[in-house]
Amino acid sequence: MRAAVIEQFGEPVKVHDDWSDPECGPRDAVLAVEACGICRSDHTLWTGGFPWMGLVPELPAVPGHEYCGVVEEVGSAVTRFKKGDRVVTPFGHACGECEMCASGYQNICANIQIPTMHYTGGYASHTKVANADVNLVALPEAISYASAASLGCRFITSYHGVVDQAAVQPGEWVAVFACGGVGLAAVNIANALGANVIAVSRSDEKLRLAKDLGAAHTVTAGPDAPEEIRELTAGGAHVTVDALGSEATAVPAILSLRPRGRHLRLGGSNQSEQGMIRLPVDVILFQELSLVGSFGMQAARFPEMLGKIESGALSPDALVGTTVSLDEAGDVLSSMGGYDTVAMSVITEF
Ligand SMILES: [Zn+2]
Ligand SMILES: [Zn+2]
Repeated sequence: MRAAVIEQFGEPVKVHDDWSDPECGPRDAVLAVEACGICRSDHTLWTGGFPWMGLVPELPAVPGHEYCGVVEEVGSAVTRFKKGDRVVTPFGHACGECEMCASGYQNICANIQIPTMHYTGGYASHTKVANADVNLVALPEAISYASAASLGCRFITSYHGVVDQAAVQPGEWVAVFACGGVGLAAVNIANALGANVIAVSRSDEKLRLAKDLGAAHTVTAGPDAPEEIRELTAGGAHVTVDALGSEATAVPAILSLRPRGRHLRLGGSNQSEQGMIRLPVDVILFQELSLVGSFGMQAARFPEMLGKIESGALSPDALVGTTVSLDEAGDVLSSMGGYDTVAMSVITEF
């Protein structure tokens, strides 16, 4: 099969025409990949992974963890899917058997397997999904492959975060810091829930996109942002979202909350901060703030979200900026270091 391969961290990925095909175990499915998003976490994995979380890919590795496609083969124990099904999958593949899986939290499965880390990812003509009955989701005909490419990572991360974890309510003020894919998805989802959304970014172009996706107000990132948000909201946002994961977004997001507000952490850390940042802990204490994490989303939660996409309430297609070929994916990946990319690039030609 064709695959783009990380051979050395930080070196351009190399496209191979004869990479070995994924093996389909009895509980697995092999997909022909139709679309794969190029995610910020791919950039982090390409530059060395998340060693502070024990996540370092073994090289050579095929990246790509937000993809959709058509089932090409299923193992003998798979009962819910068959060859030819259109499917999407969350980026973390659950075992279906551990305590978290049994409690319905497959997204934080104790034995989670992540493409790139544990097997071939979606920068390839084919990939595999382990435990297909647990991890595959049928993709409705009405949703295109390109718009479904964001669903496996950034859109579900925001959906689970905003809907399930921060439990955003109609009429609440929600300020979203950083308007990359995860942030724009959070704007779109919070707006659909009936919240009043404030988008915060240093990029006017990203703020314009945020307005299109439902932001009622936009604020330019900078030292004055928390005060501006407290004024706009008469006392602070009920919920703030850090969609980037760095101290530069976490601190102002926490300082923009009203007393008893909730701070939702959606972005993963980076090589320079390595998962450790300084936070205004006395403000958290004095104002009884809550910090909430969110990681992916269970396959079983997809149908509710897919229904809202089909009805037009949510617009993941608006996050897609450009579609590229597998041969161009490496250039997109190398260009992501500066955080300047607007909207997402999706590989649609393999
Ligand atoms: Zn599990
Ligand atoms: Zn991702």
